[in-house]
Amino acid sequence: MTDTTRREVLGWLAGLGAAAVLPPGRADAAPGLTALRGVTLVDASGVRRDATIVLADDEVLAVGGCDLPLPRGCSVLDLAGKFVIPGLWDMHVHGSYLDRITLPLCLVNGVTGVREMWGFPPIYALRDRIERGEVFGPRLVVGSTIIDGPHSTLPGAQIVATPDEGRQAVRDAKAQGADFVKVYSYLDRPTLAAIADECSQQDITFAGHCSDHVAMGDASDLGQRTFEHMYGLPLATSTREPELRQAIADLPLDPAKPFAWFKQVLELERLASSSHSRPKAVQLAKRLRRNGSALCPTMVAMRVYAGPADRYANDSRMKYMPAFYRDLWRDNLRNWAPVTPQEIREQAEFLERRMDQVAEMHDHGVEILAGTDAGNPYVFPGFSVHDELELLVEAGLSPREALSAGTRNGTLTPGAEANLVVLDGNPLNDIRNTQRIHAVLTRGRVLGAAERQSMLADVEKAAQEPFRAAVRSCC
Ligand SMILES: [Zn+2]
Ligand SMILES: [Zn+2]
Repeated sequence: MTDTTRREVLGWLAGLGAAAVLPPGRADAAPGLTALRGVTLVDASGVRRDATIVLADDEVLAVGGCDLPLPRGCSVLDLAGKFVIPGLWDMHVHGSYLDRITLPLCLVNGVTGVREMWGFPPIYALRDRIERGEVFGPRLVVGSTIIDGPHSTLPGAQIVATPDEGRQAVRDAKAQGADFVKVYSYLDRPTLAAIADECSQQDITFAGHCSDHVAMGDASDLGQRTFEHMYGLPLATSTREPELRQAIADLPLDPAKPFAWFKQVLELERLASSSHSRPKAVQLAKRLRRNGSALCPTMVAMRVYAGPADRYANDSRMKYMPAFYRDLWRDNLRNWAPVTPQEIREQAEFLERRMDQVAEMHDHGVEILAGTDAGNPYVFPGFSVHDELELLVEAGLSPREALSAGTRNGTLTPGAEANLVVLDGNPLNDIRNTQRIHAVLTRGRVLGAAERQSMLADVEKAAQEPFRAAVRSCC
């Protein structure tokens, strides 16, 4: 805290002749001023070497070169040789209600924004408490409860059987405080269309799984904002699409085997990925781009499901997860992971083809989002965003493009939120440098190495305590 008055800061800003605006505040209140000096700023607008960034509390006030004059009373961080990127976003998270685990793990990893994909009222309340400064956490954008069609295999999903029920679910989501409506795999076309129409009347977006009953291009035309996990992509771009869609329509529904349908659809998608049509992909990309639909591939989660069940069981980050997750995740993978060498090989090849498709859609202008599906087996809040960025580069994006995906094209310009990550290495040379975090700045706080270590130690402690909250996870 400084004793610089608001008037003085305004005078300094006027002297810069910059377009910067001081955040609204009381005339006599002194903003907390911090300057980062000597950094290389890497954001969606490009690269700026030897930059100075001045922050007022939680807002970027000015960005300039090494000669930018600093306001009086500004605390200066000399960061020569460091790199600064905007705060990262994990666009697909479950479990933000584990507030002593998920929230700090995100922050220490430079993840200052989270899209929670399964919302309910306590999470809306948590989101609001974070914004009021009562809880220290990333910005939460929270979905509705998961809305699905009859025969849903997801325990706890809200089932809507008719278009009218779909409309009511949208109105309920809006009234409860959801930021968007989360849709799932079994919605039929008339119901999805009704949800889409009601969303537009209620001024709320919808996002989630591509329904097995609706082609991705059609769902995009209806206004679906994002598509998760690459579901529906192989099918929509297969030369065998009509035949495989018919096979899905003919699949028997067996209530005694709730996962059978899901698995069989995935197997048909795997077959679809071997009959990929580039012209169909280009057409689909055009449609998604025109509609503003994005893909959130969550490859870091899909990679776990594509390998043997125990491949990641000894990950050193398990110590940050609640103790019972060990069994929960192991049991989950027993249902889903490939077992025989042939199955394992097939799933690995399938994953590779889907990653190729993500790169192909990106090449044709479709927006890609970095999301992890944290909460699902061996996907860790915060940490796994960096793994996903690596996978985006492995898929074929450049480090710069992966970084744009990870920051939602964030730029650190005057007026932007002061969420930023200071790195020891250049992420454009090697995307793994996003993991070499020197400091995280968010909500007016500077999280250096010591503070982040202490936050991690707290998480480790919290992970050993018994949890009463019901645990939800989904893929
Ligand atoms: Zn999902
Ligand atoms: Zn999910």
